[in-house]
Amino acid sequence: MNRIWIITVISAIALVGSLFLFQSCSRKAAQCPLCEREIHQGMQVKLTHNHIPMQACCMACALTYKAQTENVEIESATDFLSETSIEPWNAFYVVASDISPCIQDPKVQKFIREPHAALHACYDRCEPGILAFRSRSEAQKFQKEHGGYIRQFEDLPAFIAAQGRSR
Ligand SMILES: [Zn+2]
Repeated sequence: MNRIWIITVISAIALVGSLFLFQSCSRKAAQCPLCEREIHQGMQVKLTHNHIPMQACCMACALTYKAQTENVEIESATDFLSETSIEPWNAFYVVASDISPCIQDPKVQKFIREPHAALHACYDRCEPGILAFRSRSEAQKFQKEHGGYIRQFEDLPAFIAAQGRSR
């Protein structure tokens, strides 16, 4: 009798524990497979590699991947304001403004600790911050408040540090 009681309590605890674990997992934001950063709403980019779909945290991360890898196509961008999917080639981009959710992610290491020194990280695949807007006027309004440059899709690869290095 006593034994059954103990087993019941233990399984109840295990059940509650696993429910908690399940909940915290399902609440976790999606992660970028390229840099393991959280995918911020309003920044997500859908792309394919050899026709296999994937989601990247931001346009800079996706374009870095495209610059380094064959057969990568950018399929969609996200309007930063409405957080809805837009066609990347019709979007207007604010590049290098003071808003850059990926780079400002607190989990991103800004210092690399070596045995005798702490080195400041000067390369980030998500740099510069590239935010997409569905209209030029919204991009201009954002740029007035947050700085940066307004560019179109075909201009973006020039801002990506990895461009041309691996080929
Ligand atoms: Zn990423």
